[in-house]
Amino acid sequence: MTKIDFSQINKTAADSFNQQRNVIKRLAKGQKVLCDQCQQALTLTVLSEGESGVQCTKGCTQINLELDV
Ligand SMILES: [Zn+2]
Repeated sequence: MTKIDFSQINKTAADSFNQQRNVIKRLAKGQKVLCDQCQQALTLTVLSEGESGVQCTKGCTQINLELDV
C-alpha cells in the first residue's frame, strides 16, 4: 500500500500559491516578471467582475485568480 505524504503536497501547493501571489504583486507594481518556461515577459490582465489572469505570450504560464477588490 502506498502512503501519500499529504503534508508535503499541501506545502507545495502553498508554495506555488505564494509564488503566484508574488508574481502578481510585482506585475501590479509595474515590475517585469519573466516566465519560468520561455523567459518571455508575463502580462497581467485585469478583467471586469474581479477576475484577473497572468500569462506569457506563449501560454506556458497561465495563472487565473479572483481578486477581492
Ligand atoms: Zn512562457
